[in-house]
Amino acid sequence: MSRVPFTTAQLPARKRIALVAHDHCKEFLLDWSERQRPRLAQHDLLATGTTGLLLTRRLHLPVESMISGPLGGDQQIGARIAERRVDMLVFFWDPFEQQPHDPDIKALLRVAAVWNIPVACNESSADYLLSSPLLEQRHEHRVPDYATYLAARA
Ligand code: PGA
Repeated sequence: MSRVPFTTAQLPARKRIALVAHDHCKEFLLDWSERQRPRLAQHDLLATGTTGLLLTRRLHLPVESMISGPLGGDQQIGARIAERRVDMLVFFWDPFEQQPHDPDIKALLRVAAVWNIPVACNESSADYLLSSPLLEQRHEHRVPDYATYLAARA
């Protein structure tokens, strides 16, 4: 990361929150999201395919669904993070099971780290994120300075 120049960008007050849960964690995410529904309702939600369908049914809120994770949905969310179209990631990944799309999961978590967005991996960390005063505020965060990066390479 030391060779990548950085700048600052704004995260908006109304966040675009991506939600993903592996199969054995879906019930945890659904219960958590129901408990956090009032806060989640203030933001724009997107999710991988199955997670999105289940969230829509449970919350009766609009959730933009990608395709299912193992079919490429994690990569779709990763691409949006790189395009700075996702501001927060809540990803309940399964610590007990190997996933067929493990490279995609790694890639999603990596790109979230690159673009310095807040990430929660379980209910506790997701509660901390949603109770942060920054959730409802427009605020600055550090991001790679792509223009400078490209100029130095070309
Ligand atoms: P799903 O994908 O929401 O379609 O189940 C999640 C994942 O396994 O990445």
